[in-house]
Amino acid sequence: MRIDLHCHSTASDGTMSPEELVELAKEVDVQQLALTDHDCINGISRALEASKSCDLRLIPGVEISVTWQEMTIHILGLNVDWQNKDLCDGLDVIQQFRVTRAEGIAQGLETAGIEDALAGATALAGSALLSRTHFAQFLINEGKARKMQDVFKRYMVKGKPGYVPGDWASLENALQWIKNAGGIAAIAHPARYKMSAGKLRKLIEDFIDYGGQGLEIVSGSHTDKQNHGMANYARRYELYGSIGSDFHGEHHPWRKMGLTAGVPEGVQPIWECPQWESVYR
Ligand code: AMP
Ligand code: MN
Ligand code: MN
Ligand code: MN
Repeated sequence: MRIDLHCHSTASDGTMSPEELVELAKEVDVQQLALTDHDCINGISRALEASKSCDLRLIPGVEISVTWQEMTIHILGLNVDWQNKDLCDGLDVIQQFRVTRAEGIAQGLETAGIEDALAGATALAGSALLSRTHFAQFLINEGKARKMQDVFKRYMVKGKPGYVPGDWASLENALQWIKNAGGIAAIAHPARYKMSAGKLRKLIEDFIDYGGQGLEIVSGSHTDKQNHGMANYARRYELYGSIGSDFHGEHHPWRKMGLTAGVPEGVQPIWECPQWESVYR
């Protein structure tokens, strides 16, 4: 059975609509797909509607941006009641920060001689939640770089003109919203954070203290070696293991929907946890 519990639609920084994602999931034989847009649930009703005409189980999800020890960490909320008020109110606050941050990014880019980045990124985002990916796409269109990774490296990361420090949700609040919405939380792509093993252990321990239960072991943004490394953490801390491609469509074309790797031995798959049976529609 193919399961993919992490992907993005045009509601955040993916290039495919919720309906197109459902269509693709059918083509690549994914039976359970979680839509996990950054800090928003705006694509879920459309994805659920589209999934009704086929066997696909669409899992309502969200990828919440969190600031923990001055680092940005992504926490997946899976199988959430996506209309839950606590969750939606929390996401509203993050969305407001995205607007403020976008102004800061544009000001920073202006100091590097790049004009009108806010208008440009906003136009590219359309009705989507404004993200750094839209700024990156704007800079590519302006001829500042050819590839997404190059734009990030040159303009969007710490020490570069378009960098604005995160002021996202606290880990504790994000976990509370997910819990209140009946969902289960997983740390997204845990091997991707540039932190020491000790720091990662501390993150996992804080996450567990606040009620977190899952770890995204197999990720489209991990290497095989990292997948195995993260499985060790899941075993050690008895966390449920999740699998997700982190599919964004054309924005990260090398990530394909529907990973073939399963959850490694000795790790309990997150879709077998008791609360997975409650379906939010
Ligand atoms: P934001 O949540 O607006 O800060 O944007 C984060 C998104 O930017 C991530 O989810 C990725 O899709 C993308 N991103 C972050 N870092 C990079 C990078 N180095 N190269 C390409 N895309 C990146
Ligand atoms: Mn993204
Ligand atoms: Mn992420
Ligand atoms: Mn993601």
